[in-house]
Amino acid sequence: MATETIFSKIIRKEIPSDILYQDELVTAFTDINPALPTHILIVPNEHIPTSSDVTAAHEAAMGRMHTVARKLAEQAGIAKDGYRLIINCGEHGRQEVMHIHMHLLGGADVGPMLVRQKAV
Ligand code: AMP
Repeated sequence: MATETIFSKIIRKEIPSDILYQDELVTAFTDINPALPTHILIVPNEHIPTSSDVTAAHEAAMGRMHTVARKLAEQAGIAKDGYRLIINCGEHGRQEVMHIHMHLLGGADVGPMLVRQKAV
């Protein structure tokens, strides 16, 4: 089994964090280093390292992450103006914490989607 990350400790409430939502499938908490006024991470309670490890068995949790993101965006008051959902995967995706997570970012214009590479 892949090594757990700090997110498993947050989910089990073994370390302090700002948990905004938790149910039997997912947990959502405020990002410790917010990039925008609203920056929330939504994670499955089960340790799934990356998007490349997602299987059909995880579909319920992956779907729940999205519906929880929608509800938290409404609660945060950013739904009307819009927001961005990001899941980074692996080295090229610049994923830092190897427990799959969805970033919910908003409260201001998030800027362009990507910095374009010269060759593209
Ligand atoms: P990523 O680059 O997609 O793996 O993003 C990892 C995110 O986890 C970053 O935005 C970090 O600020 C955030 N993060 C790391 N440790 C914690 C923590 N203990 N509590 C909340 N957010 C964290």
